[in-house]
Amino acid sequence: MRGIIEFSNYCLQDCLYCGLRCSNANIKRYRMTDDEILSGAKDILGSGIGTIVLQSGEDTFYSSQKIVNLIRRIKDETGLVITLSIGEWPFEDYELFKAAGADRYLLKHETSDAQLYKDIRPGCELSCRLKCQKHLKSIGFETGSGVMVGLPGQTIESLAEDIMMFRELDIDMIGIGPFIPHDETPLKVPLKVRLKWFSR
Ligand code: SF4
Repeated sequence: MRGIIEFSNYCLQDCLYCGLRCSNANIKRYRMTDDEILSGAKDILGSGIGTIVLQSGEDTFYSSQKIVNLIRRIKDETGLVITLSIGEWPFEDYELFKAAGADRYLLKHETSDAQLYKDIRPGCELSCRLKCQKHLKSIGFETGSGVMVGLPGQTIESLAEDIMMFRELDIDMIGIGPFIPHDETPLKVPLKVRLKWFSR
């Protein structure tokens, strides 16, 4: 059991499958303050859950120092195990997060197919993602990753590669979910087509 706090839904990336993408103007954006996050963390602790996941888009409003302060406060005031799910950062920032007390890091790569990755995450490279995952592991984080199944253009072979890659990266937590088209993204699927899926 994990308590997840999605503390910001701002994101500077523009992933084709994601409702938080920066090009989506039809979303109400929010950011939580440290005190609001702490209050959520205490509720999680009070519910008998021992792990908190701090999740956000890639939001530069939160500097590495802000994240460090937040980790320290949560550790000091609750003692919860902390998982971060806040995207790609410079390696030295990952080290600061670890030193501040974060325990786990979730960084999904969504597909091991380098071309498909580039197609669905404009301006991003699979190789950078993998370097981040390897670095996180090397500095002592328990690492989580995952992929989506059913992405347009995905093949059975690339799904098999996904599994091989999890093994190669020695990932500790693996999240595999279905690709569900979001209406406010370029990968949306017309309602007519979706209804056909459900009537099969
Ligand atoms: S980086 Fe994450 S939150 Fe941002 S658009 Fe891509 S998938 Fe969504």
